[in-house]
Amino acid sequence: MVSPTRVGVVVVAAGSGDRFGGPKQLAPFGSARVVDHAVQAAREVAEVVVVVVPQDQVPAVARSLPADVTCTAGGDTRSASVRAGLVLIPTDCDIILVHDGARPLAGAQLFRRVVDAVIDGADAVVPAVAVTDSIRHRDDGAVDRHDLVAVQTPQGFRADLLRSAHAGNDDATDDAALVEAVGGKVVLVDGETTNLKITNPQDLRIAEGILKERP
Ligand code: C5P
Repeated sequence: MVSPTRVGVVVVAAGSGDRFGGPKQLAPFGSARVVDHAVQAAREVAEVVVVVVPQDQVPAVARSLPADVTCTAGGDTRSASVRAGLVLIPTDCDIILVHDGARPLAGAQLFRRVVDAVIDGADAVVPAVAVTDSIRHRDDGAVDRHDLVAVQTPQGFRADLLRSAHAGNDDATDDAALVEAVGGKVVLVDGETTNLKITNPQDLRIAEGILKERP
């Protein structure tokens, strides 16, 4: 059982947004930017929030963030950007969450669910939703989708495990895969179907529609 004294969140928002046509995490969204919504939700559960953005955006983003949020430059891969944020999370945070800055609709309740599962003893916690499309291997035919889930962020970790998972400077599309590689056990919690990752311009329009319907 982890004693829940302090929670740190790394919000990774340093991607180039090639499929979007620019840094999607900095696109206007509602009355702010995509990344501001991710930061806002993170601040609901965390004592410390670090936002990782492209190097050339650091001064502008740092100026516009709340004073208690730290901003730093990312790396060439998502995992390198996580590591850039991780070094700024104080060592007295015993739980660390990693969240994609490109997911502006993850609610505070989802963040809470992830933190609570780590407090309850999980090494690593991943929000997951059912796969609704039928799935095929490109070359090997159909896959039973009932065996699969789509994973989201925020993902939550025992801080020591996340740090050792990143110690080898390996790359993966999410942090749970790195933690599993060092022997951590991953627990799934319910994700949110509205927790879209903005990838293409049309994702932003869909997310804006969901945002407008929220109270
Ligand atoms: O590219 P993808 O959509 O998987 O990126 C997921 C998240 O990781 C995004 O929020 C993106 O900004 C971030 N990222 C990063 N540094 C990179 C690549 C991606 O912070 N070099």
